Amino acid sequence: MIASARLRPFVRTARASRHVFTPGIMVATRSQQKNKLAMTASSTPPREMRTFKDVASLISFKELAALKPEHGTAVIQLALIVDISALEREVLERLLPALLTLTPNIIILTLWVYPPISTVSFARVPLPSLEVIRTNIPHRALRPFVAFHPTLRALDIDACGRARRCGLSTLNIHQVNDISCLVSCVPKLVHKDVERLRVALDDTDVLMSAAISAFPISLHRLHVLTVDFAANDKTILRVIATNMPGIRNLKLLERCKANRHAARPWTDATGWCAALKKLSQLDQLVVRTNGVLSTPDDRKAERELFHRWVGGKQLHSTLRYIAVWQRYNDRDRGVISEWSREDGNWKGKWTEAPVASGFAMFD
Ligand SMILES: [Zn+2]
Repeated sequence: MIASARLRPFVRTARASRHVFTPGIMVATRSQQKNKLAMTASSTPPREMRTFKDVASLISFKELAALKPEHGTAVIQLALIVDISALEREVLERLLPALLTLTPNIIILTLWVYPPISTVSFARVPLPSLEVIRTNIPHRALRPFVAFHPTLRALDIDACGRARRCGLSTLNIHQVNDISCLVSCVPKLVHKDVERLRVALDDTDVLMSAAISAFPISLHRLHVLTVDFAANDKTILRVIATNMPGIRNLKLLERCKANRHAARPWTDATGWCAALKKLSQLDQLVVRTNGVLSTPDDRKAERELFHRWVGGKQLHSTLRYIAVWQRYNDRDRGVISEWSREDGNWKGKWTEAPVASGFAMFD
C-alpha cells in the first residue's frame, strides 16, 4: 500500500506532461529524447559487453536497442549491478523482459540487484545462447528461469532465500557443470557431471567439511575446486580427497577469524600429507590463511614442512605447484610462499608484504 501510494504522483505527473524523467538531465520532451537517441545510435557502434550500474541507463539502452536492433543483438555479455528503490523495483520488473527480448544473443548474464528481486518476470524470454548466469536472485524465484534455459552451463548464485528447501534442489541441472554457490545449498545442487565448483561459507556455523560429507555422490569429474574453510575445520582436506578424488586444481580460502597461532587443518601433518597423496591428480594447491605454517621467517622449517607436503622421499607424482599466503589479514599482508617443481626439483620463493593485485590466484 505504501509503495503504491508513493508511486501514484510520479506516474500521474509523467503521463499528464508527457515528459520523461532522466536522472542527471532536468526534463526532456519525448521528441528531444528521440533525437538524442537517434544521435547516440548513429555515433556509437554496437558493443558486445554492456554493464549497467543504474536503472536509468538501462532504460536508455532499451530505447536505443528498440530504435536500432543491432545494438541489442550485438550484446553477448550483459551485466546489471545496481541498488534499487521500491519504485525502481517495479520499473525493473517491467523492463527486464523487454530488454532481454532485445538482446537475444546473450551468453553471460549478470544480475546483482540489491535488495534482490524475487519476481523473475523474464523467466521465459528465449535466450538460446545463454551459458552463464551470475545472480543474487533467491533460488525459488530463479527456478523457472533455470528450467527454461537448458543451454546454461554455469550457475553463480548467492543466498538461497527464505524458502525452507532450496528452490533449485529438485531441478534437473545435469547440463550445468560449473557451480558457484553457498555451503548451505551445495549438497543439494551437485551432481556427477560437475567439473568446476566454488563454495563459500555463509553466516551459519556449517563447516565446509560437513557440507562436502553430505554430498549424495562422489564427484569424480570435478577437477577445479575452490572452497572457503574455517581454521578449526580439521578434516577439510581428507573429506575433499574422499569425495572429489580427481581434483587437479585446489584452492582453500580461510574465512573465519582465528588466532594466528591457532591450529589449522595442516597442523596434523600426517593426516594432511596423507590426504594430499590421495589426491592423485593434484597439479596445483593454493591456500590463503591468517595463520602461519611455521615460525615466521624460519625458511628452513618451512622448507622441511613443504617437503613433507609433497611426499618426502616418495614424491607426489602430479603435484607441481603450491602457494600459501600466510598472515593474510596482517597489516603488512604477511608473506606468500610459493613452491614449484622443475625437472623433479622443488624450488621455493617468498614474497613479503604482497600486493593483492599481483596474486589474483588467491581470489
Ligand atoms: Zn538454494
